[in-house]
Amino acid sequence: MLYNEPSPLETRVLTRRFGLPNSASIDTYLAHDGYKAFTKASGMKPEEIINEVKISNLRGRGGAGFPTGMKWSFVPRSSPKPKYIVVNADESEPGTCKDRVLMEYDPHLMIEGILIAGLAVDAHVGWIYIRGEYRYLIDIVDKALAEAYAKGWLGKNIQGTGFDFELYTHTGAGAYECGEESALLESLEGKRGIPRIRPPFPAVVGAFQCPTVLNNVETFCAVPPILLDGGKAFADLGVPKAGGTKLTCLTGHVNKPGVYELRLGFPVKQMIEEVGGGMRNGKKFKAFIPGGSSCPVLTAEECEGATMDYDSMAARKSMLGSGGVVVMDEDTCMVKAALRIMRFYAHESCGWCIPCREGTAWLRKILTRFHEGYGTRQDIDLIGDLSRNMLGRTFCPLGDAAALPTESIVTKFRHEFEDHLNGKPCPFEGGRPHGLPPTGPGAGLHAIGETGRTGSRLI
Ligand code: SF4
Repeated sequence: MLYNEPSPLETRVLTRRFGLPNSASIDTYLAHDGYKAFTKASGMKPEEIINEVKISNLRGRGGAGFPTGMKWSFVPRSSPKPKYIVVNADESEPGTCKDRVLMEYDPHLMIEGILIAGLAVDAHVGWIYIRGEYRYLIDIVDKALAEAYAKGWLGKNIQGTGFDFELYTHTGAGAYECGEESALLESLEGKRGIPRIRPPFPAVVGAFQCPTVLNNVETFCAVPPILLDGGKAFADLGVPKAGGTKLTCLTGHVNKPGVYELRLGFPVKQMIEEVGGGMRNGKKFKAFIPGGSSCPVLTAEECEGATMDYDSMAARKSMLGSGGVVVMDEDTCMVKAALRIMRFYAHESCGWCIPCREGTAWLRKILTRFHEGYGTRQDIDLIGDLSRNMLGRTFCPLGDAAALPTESIVTKFRHEFEDHLNGKPCPFEGGRPHGLPPTGPGAGLHAIGETGRTGSRLI
């Protein structure tokens, strides 16, 4: 079954083989330009490959958006240590499901991208670190690896080029934190998945203390088309500082949710109205998460004239992130949205640093009681203060990921928090009369701290 009906507004570069019979098989891949980019790259010098990737303006598709060609150029090729390739397939950002479809429908595209990266940095071993919950994908990717070995596209002396490459899958245990590159490397090495202090960065000291190229699945999948069609052709698909297309996971209250491949710079309104088929049930568009739940939320007004690219989102103080778009309609309770997001981050915090461990737990607690109708007016400012105190004060981006959407919601939708106080606990859910003792998951939380780690009192 297809991931969704393709839209005529898509520009299908990475997804061009989606929908073909047995699209995941190597025979289908080879019949449709498969491994031609590797063959071309094997006749190029490493610096020529990296230069082509630089020309393409490909930026990392995992969320940070770092220029890929530049990242590869940081790997010291002359180092006597082995160099490695690591694929971040630990896709866990709420709202994001595009690496999943790439691995499900065209795993050889990713494998070919990995091989080309290996040629570029003189790496001969790689790992695909797959999110623990994606168990069914491990079978698909393992089958693709077996096919590639059987047909001589992996292993020793690939297709007589003299280039050797061994590629393995490695499963995570389902921790969001392991999507952070240094925590991923710790986990890959068999240790607890917590981040490393950086610098040094993985390009110099990565897996097993060796120089490592670490990129997201979608990033590697963009590499074969870049080599095949030329970096400039890829760059021309996007905007001046970011080339190509982006797999966009359009979720939430639209009529046709799905994963769509759109040019970078695609207008947000057109994406919702034409690609997504408009708002569900004819409701009004209220709020927008552009790139996964860690991004600051935009209001419908802020989306006027916005396009899906790094600069347009940065100008609105948000981020393109991983491409996990969440569209919210007028019936969405923004207090509950903030709570839902915070529950996730409080659960996923690895607990290593205090602002994140305590901040996420406190925010979850306050938002829970607030949504249940037991908040106070001071809580509104407290939510903002706690979020701002987490920003930039944690070892890894999870602290910011939790704080940014929360701070943006409490700032931009403050009136909804006040509505929860004004005699109607949740105007979107009918509310519960004040004066009744608290029940449910937030019960008693306005008295005693919930973390159980510090026993801290909140109020
Ligand atoms: Fe762990 Fe959170 Fe600190 Fe990241 S920010 S290291 S997830 S406690």
